[in-house]
Amino acid sequence: MSYQFPELPYSYDALEPYIDKATMEIHHTKHHKTYFDKFVAAIKDTGFDGKPLEEVIRNAGKLPAAVRNNGGGLYNHSLFWEILSPRGGGDPVGKLADSVRKQFGSYDDFKNRFTDAAINRFGSGWAWLSVKPDGSLCVCSSPNQDNPMMDIADCNGIPILGLDVWEHAYYLKYQNRRPEYISAFWSIVNWEKANANYEEVLSKL
Ligand code: MN
Repeated sequence: MSYQFPELPYSYDALEPYIDKATMEIHHTKHHKTYFDKFVAAIKDTGFDGKPLEEVIRNAGKLPAAVRNNGGGLYNHSLFWEILSPRGGGDPVGKLADSVRKQFGSYDDFKNRFTDAAINRFGSGWAWLSVKPDGSLCVCSSPNQDNPMMDIADCNGIPILGLDVWEHAYYLKYQNRRPEYISAFWSIVNWEKANANYEEVLSKL
């Protein structure tokens, strides 16, 4: 298989005012595209060229740093665009809503925990909601372009929702105010997609 650079499922200005058009355009056409291009170059001659991206990610610790960093960047952003929507926000839906309540107490308790993970990630990285191998939900963060699916991850699981907290994701609009960006994120979370991701992961456990 050849690797795909995904289009956004909405226009660059669709997430205004929560994420501005200039940030979305640069983030997708420059940052994400660069991860894609560098990944395609780095994966050659590793023995993994052409393997599904998920399989590459699962083996990131055994592969060159350029594969881990750029493959992670490709995977993470592809997930990120999908779990945002101009029609997002509100409360979690479906089976995921039940599990969030059961495991974290309430949606607000979950939001607080995820927000803490996103705020306290020092430097560049991501906050995640993942499904652990035993099917339970897990909130954590990871540095750089790592993610919980990687064999080297501290928190092991399959990500179903992620938030990019690199400064490139918010600096044009929010400058140093990461907590404001995180707060805005909740207004554009695509819970339908997060729930679909959740059900898909559960079905494969
Ligand atoms: Mn990014």
